[in-house]
Amino acid sequence: MRELQAVLQDWEAVIGLEVHTELTTLNTKMFCSCPIGFGAEPNTHVCPVCLGMPGALPVPNRAAIESIVLAGLATGCEIMKRSMFYRKNYFYPDMSKNFQTTQGPVAFCMGGNLDLEVSGNAAGERAVLAGTRPTVEEGGYLTSIGITRIHMEEDAGKMIHVGGTDGRISGAAYSLVDYNRCGTPLIELVTEPDLRTPAEARLFLQKLRQIYLTLAISDCSMEEGSLRCDGNVSLRPRGATELGTKTELKNMNSFKNLHDGLAYEICRQAEVLEGGGTVLQETRHWEPTAKRTISMRVKETADDYRLFPEPDLAPYDLTDEFIEAVRARLPELPDAKKRRYIELWGLPAADADNLAGQPGLSTFFDEALTLCDKARPIANLLLNEVSAHLNANGIALAKSGLTPQGIAELAALLADDTISSKQAKEVLSLMIESGKAPSLIVAEHGLQQVSDSDALEAIVLEVLAANPDKVAEYRGGKTGLLGFFVGQVMKMTKGQGNPRLINEILRKRLDN
Ligand SMILES: [Zn+2]
Repeated sequence: MRELQAVLQDWEAVIGLEVHTELTTLNTKMFCSCPIGFGAEPNTHVCPVCLGMPGALPVPNRAAIESIVLAGLATGCEIMKRSMFYRKNYFYPDMSKNFQTTQGPVAFCMGGNLDLEVSGNAAGERAVLAGTRPTVEEGGYLTSIGITRIHMEEDAGKMIHVGGTDGRISGAAYSLVDYNRCGTPLIELVTEPDLRTPAEARLFLQKLRQIYLTLAISDCSMEEGSLRCDGNVSLRPRGATELGTKTELKNMNSFKNLHDGLAYEICRQAEVLEGGGTVLQETRHWEPTAKRTISMRVKETADDYRLFPEPDLAPYDLTDEFIEAVRARLPELPDAKKRRYIELWGLPAADADNLAGQPGLSTFFDEALTLCDKARPIANLLLNEVSAHLNANGIALAKSGLTPQGIAELAALLADDTISSKQAKEVLSLMIESGKAPSLIVAEHGLQQVSDSDALEAIVLEVLAANPDKVAEYRGGKTGLLGFFVGQVMKMTKGQGNPRLINEILRKRLDN
């Protein structure tokens, strides 16, 4: 098969996503009061409603509807005053009701959009479209992705296939079913087919996840399946307006899998079309280990589901007061946060983007800023040393024992040159270990850096006097020797000399 980049020179990929998100931050299910949660004993969080027993009546969860309205407002959707629930009928053992309660043509949220800034390597996948879209920076571009709708539905249970391979049903000896997840409120966001590259699709999902996390409507764990994404993809010759036949891709349970699955499928379809074949409308399964997609089933049409209005649920009306009350709860969203970090605090765009996309870290950053206005050292500490520590140890910021006060104090010590950035790392690990304040650690361990210029000057002169040959070489043009001199001075200060000052004094002495 040809490489993606080459294929996208000849073909335009048309990609749409369907993103399912479990509203895991709620306490109870969509239509009953069973608790939501992972890890419980199978089939213990169930009742007549979520099992679909005769005569059991569903009652919509108001908190879930608040969550979907939040999602809609955050993505520019129109919130519909009246929408209805429907039954999607199908038989599969993961849903004992034999139908899923979902929404029909009019969902709670209709017609939004999300703007993407595509830059760096991600922009490279968009091969020959340069100039057709506004440019962000060298090689980057802006694109706006339409959101068709966000509708409310309920999740199905979980099947566990025993025996066979890859946990799939084919070849399994028998299958188990756990109905605990049945009826968990789920929102499904459907995009317009506006995405053109796998990189854009990945970026879209990352951005959507950041927004949902900021709204605190879900834990958005792709590993645990609370954020799942299917992709529809078709190809058409560059310049064509008619859509090609699409396939639907499943099992892309990480950002990498979403990207790689779509990339594979684009290349596969190109090969089929270039060989004179036709693409079948079907559902395909991405196999990350084998790095290929395989056919699961020929696509059903919507009619097969006999979608009809749910007779047990009245049309759901939202008042203006309700919508405005939810709007008032909207937190600052990642894009606005990023702009604030750049414009108000002077952070580089990449750092601002990185911080704004991580709600926990950015809240921490904002709190530290109220105590110390050294935005860049605080951001650097959080994005580098703190993040590296958390990742390496697999712990959450909230459980690290670090406080905004501690980080603010550490940033202040860095900013006024009391400690070097190398020492800051040491102080940080001692803070995490002991829970002590940075100033106390610095005093206890004698970690202050030497910023006394007279003292440093004396050491510099001593080093220069001890190395007359090197000084002559330096003055003869071998300026790379500066590093050697810095090293010697550092050694004499036991690593506590202020590197910026040492450089300054050395240059002054050597260049005169
Ligand atoms: Zn229940």
